[in-house]
Order: sequence, then structure tokens, then C-alpha cells
Amino acid sequence: MDKMEIVEKHKLLSEKIADADMVLVGVGEEFNEDFSDIGRFPHLMSALEEVDIDQMLEWTVPFLEHRFLIEHNDGRLVEAYRNLYEMVRNKNYFVITTCIDENIKKAAFDTERLVEPCGNHEMLQCSDKCCDELYPSGEFSDLVKQAILDGVGLDSLEIPKCPVCGKPLAYNNILCEQNYVEEGYQRQWKKYTKWLQLTLNKKICILELGVELNLPNIIRWPFEKVAFYNQKASFFRINASSYQMTEELSDKGISIGMNAVDYLREYQHL
Ligand SMILES: [Zn+2]
Repeated sequence: MDKMEIVEKHKLLSEKIADADMVLVGVGEEFNEDFSDIGRFPHLMSALEEVDIDQMLEWTVPFLEHRFLIEHNDGRLVEAYRNLYEMVRNKNYFVITTCIDENIKKAAFDTERLVEPCGNHEMLQCSDKCCDELYPSGEFSDLVKQAILDGVGLDSLEIPKCPVCGKPLAYNNILCEQNYVEEGYQRQWKKYTKWLQLTLNKKICILELGVELNLPNIIRWPFEKVAFYNQKASFFRINASSYQMTEELSDKGISIGMNAVDYLREYQHL
């Protein structure tokens, strides 16, 4: 997409946000953590080498990835989130994300205005879903950190087990697939749906960022519906591959064909 065209659309977006009563933000696949910076963390790299040598330690990989997510506080995603925060910080906003990496929390977003329906790394659940119980992940994450720092080796760790059935615990997110316990995000989901109900007849600016077509019923389709039924809505769809607007929204929808992470890094708040 032509740079001048993007600049024009960015100006329009800034105006619409400034003018809006409410700002709805959806964050999708383009924001998923790709762990490309893990090479900057030598202690995690050597732990992963340990896993390479001993396949029995394969179970530690998600826990090592979680260590990376905790310790990695900069990089392009965090930069993009910080710029996004600057765009909406003074508005009545709500963010829904399909990301499970919690990078968005490294910017100053109000977590009461955030819902993560695909889960995250905050809690653990039974990998066999014998029950809906959730357990904070922090304590085990500290054990992993300590084992790495002490150099005692990952084989000094034992996989955390479900206190009810004894099966391994896993992070409470969609990587559990059909066993994903959806209790974890319900409290925020209720807030989100209530907030959405209040958008009716309000000037709402909808910002769909990097959302592809893998989970359309979480962000894409509901956002299109909100935009369609709200006479005062403006709708911005920004992503590199699936930025086309539906026919029904051609009058209030603006497409920007660019990776939304790069967009937020390059086009800052005007
Ligand atoms: Zn269990």
C-alpha cells in the first residue's frame, strides 16, 4: 500500500479516535510472540540445549517459554503496544486479544479493560480437564528460574501435577485444545459484553489490528456486526494479508494493508 495513502488513513484514524466516545480494539495473530529474541537470553538458550540432548525434558519447553515472556520486556511487540496505548489512553477503551503471551500487559493498559479469551500464562489447569480448577503459575515459574540460575539442571525439576487426578498441569490457554478450561477469562468476558452493550448509539471507533482468519468468531465477525449495527461507528481494519472490507461496511470501513505491528511502530499518535 502506498505510503501517502497510509499517512492519510492514519490521520483519519487519529481524528476518529479523538472524536469517539468509546474505542474498541481487537488484537490478533500478527501480534503472536514468535520467540525470535530468545537468543538474547543465554541462560534460556542453554536450558533449551539441555532439552535438545534429553528428550525426557521436552515438557519443560512451555515453562521455559514462559520464563522468556516474563524476562523479555522490550522488542517490537512491546514497542507497538506502547504506541497503541498512547493512542487510546485517554479514551473509554476495551481491548480483546487472541494472543496468549501477555505482551500487551508490558504497556500501561488497564487490565480491567482487557479480555484474553484464548487464555494466557497466568494460571495452570489440569491437562486432562478432570475439573475446572485453576492454579497460579508463578510459584512453579520461580522454581524453573531458580533451577536455571543455580545450574542444577532441568532434570532437578518435576512436572507440576494436578492435585485431583495426578495428570500434568498445563498453562490455561487454547494450547490445551479441547481440554481448555474457559473459566479463566469469564470475569473479564462479562465486563466486555456489558461494555459492548453500552456502545449502542455511541460514537465508537473500532480498531482491528493484525487479525487474520483463524478465529473469526472472536474478533472479526463480532466487530463487523458492531460496526454494521452502529450508525456512528468507524471501523479500521489493519493487517498485511486479510485487510479487505466486507461490502456492507464499505461506507464506514477503512482498510490498511500493512502488518499492524509495523504500522503501530511507524505511525505514531498524531
Ligand atoms: Zn486433573
